[in-house]
Amino acid sequence: MIAYVTGAAGFVGSHLCDRLLRDGADVVGIDNLATGAVENLRDAQASSRFTFVQADVSEPWETWIADLSAALQRPAVMLHFASPASPVQYERLALQTMAVNAVGTMHAVAAAQASGATLLFASTSESYGDPHEHPQRETYWGNVNPVGIRSCYDESKRFGEAYVTTAVRKLGIDGRVVRIFNTYGPRMQAGDGRVIPNFCISALRGEPLTVYGDGSQTRSFCYVDDLVDGLVRFATRSGLAGRVVNIGNDGEYTIRQLAEITARLAGTELRLTRDALPPDDPTRRKPDVTLARELLDWQPTTPLETGLRRTLDYFRKG
Ligand code: UDP
Repeated sequence: MIAYVTGAAGFVGSHLCDRLLRDGADVVGIDNLATGAVENLRDAQASSRFTFVQADVSEPWETWIADLSAALQRPAVMLHFASPASPVQYERLALQTMAVNAVGTMHAVAAAQASGATLLFASTSESYGDPHEHPQRETYWGNVNPVGIRSCYDESKRFGEAYVTTAVRKLGIDGRVVRIFNTYGPRMQAGDGRVIPNFCISALRGEPLTVYGDGSQTRSFCYVDDLVDGLVRFATRSGLAGRVVNIGNDGEYTIRQLAEITARLAGTELRLTRDALPPDDPTRRKPDVTLARELLDWQPTTPLETGLRRTLDYFRKG
């Protein structure tokens, strides 16, 4: 099998490349390094089956896939993961975020059509916005502010979902959409602003953890290895064209609980400071993963404390 991974140097993309290489695939990783880091690809680069292409997938696919013959001769998958993904990063790179999820997805579809590759588009729980249905099932249409501060991400991911599923109907490609819920683990960037790296770094420095709002908002945190296992199953099983599937952990924690657990595991006394809740910050989020269980025989297996210990180790060494 040959796998094309856009966003290969990012947090999820790099773990995905490592896993596909372990499974024996040839992997072409594409990244413009807007938010990714080549150090994330150190393990992948050690394999002769890995090729890195520094390119922007918002440009036509011919500029980032040199040779289609490799894909035409054997099973091929295209995993479109290029995009800033943390609120801090996508607000900073708002226009680029919209381009990669809209124009970049159109190019990924064109490449999948030309090569016959199965396309997996990385969408997000942000498609549900600040949800009125809890937990969120794939059938829920969401509650998204189309002009708010998060809309560059939410609405461009929603456009990507619409484009891929329409291309399945109109072009006959095998496209699939995964809605990824909050994921954490080694290789998250220290400065990307997400809650787990922020809490880990503050706790390891013995500094107070900054809680936005009153900390009663909830999230469900999936360890990256569990996510990647679900992604590979979804991308490689037959008969799933046009499907939209949530992948995430269905344990639900308030941000305050997360702060308590992180401080305890880091061996530091819990001290909190408060900051304002960012606009449009969803109040509750938890996936319904029934469909992933049914279609992919998948479920998350890493308890939060186990994953957090590994993540703390990563930041301790970094
Ligand atoms: N958050 C927080 N402190 C931080 C970073 C984030 O309290 O240092 C909160 C944030 O307001 C949100 C939740 O933690 O309610 C998760 O934020 P994150 O940026 O990780 O991802 P999101 O789920 O909002 O995309």
